[in-house]
Amino acid sequence: MSLLLLVDLDGVVYRGADPVPGVAAVLMTRANAGDHVVYVTNNSMHYRADYVTRLTELGAPVTPDRVVSAPRATALYLKEHHPDVRRVLAVGASGLDRELRDVGLEVVNAGFAADRMGREGIDGVAAAGAPQAVVAGVDPQLTYLRIAAAADCIRAGATFIATNRDPVYPTERWLRPGAGSIVSAIEVASGVTPVVIGKPEPLLMEQAAHAVGLDPKDAIVIGDGIGTDLAAANAVGARTILMLTGVTTRAAADALPAADRPFKVAADAAELAQLLEALAPA
Ligand SMILES: [Mg+2]
Repeated sequence: MSLLLLVDLDGVVYRGADPVPGVAAVLMTRANAGDHVVYVTNNSMHYRADYVTRLTELGAPVTPDRVVSAPRATALYLKEHHPDVRRVLAVGASGLDRELRDVGLEVVNAGFAADRMGREGIDGVAAAGAPQAVVAGVDPQLTYLRIAAAADCIRAGATFIATNRDPVYPTERWLRPGAGSIVSAIEVASGVTPVVIGKPEPLLMEQAAHAVGLDPKDAIVIGDGIGTDLAAANAVGARTILMLTGVTTRAAADALPAADRPFKVAADAAELAQLLEALAPA
């Protein structure tokens, strides 16, 4: 019986710039054995091709359809649930713009909108064609005017969508403000609460399972986050292998109430391989 594995990236396959030893090889072995491996990430800044390159370098080559990032899931959500939306104001990095364009949306970059606002006020944004949706993720170029442009568009009726609400994300040395920090600023300024696409909401897991034509409740989610991966897995009825290779300690996993515990805990790639072999006997 083949498995459906929905695999988080940061903290599982790699930690920032460093690979987690052995995990890419375990996943490649499972894919070669016929398991469906789909990668899911809340990261809102990158384009799918970036992950294809990274995973190939790590020894686990994939096709872009096996990567469901928060920006990709956001673009698919807009096409499915808001087919009338043509033009989107994107507060984010270039990866978000590219994913939105890939599904045929016209993207008004928040930097462009803010420039026009600075010169002409909100009418400057409207003159560029009023966006019917505002999408927000991590925007390394965030400015006051970008928040203002997004809030004005939302108040004028644009649908507000957040790639995710992670408060922070880890880099090699520091925690940096995550999409949630930026989304909250726009939420407060506009008075509108967004639809959230990324983990712990279920949508990323649903789209990842649907990418291979399967049901998310049959998945095994492999992730390192309790409030993200485990919560999203529980939301779709999937089992979780909680990895201790990222943000979660064994003590934190043990402290979870019985109802919220993961299916299994794995300390490293070797334990992950053993668990998966036991689940899918050859
Ligand atoms: Mg993670």
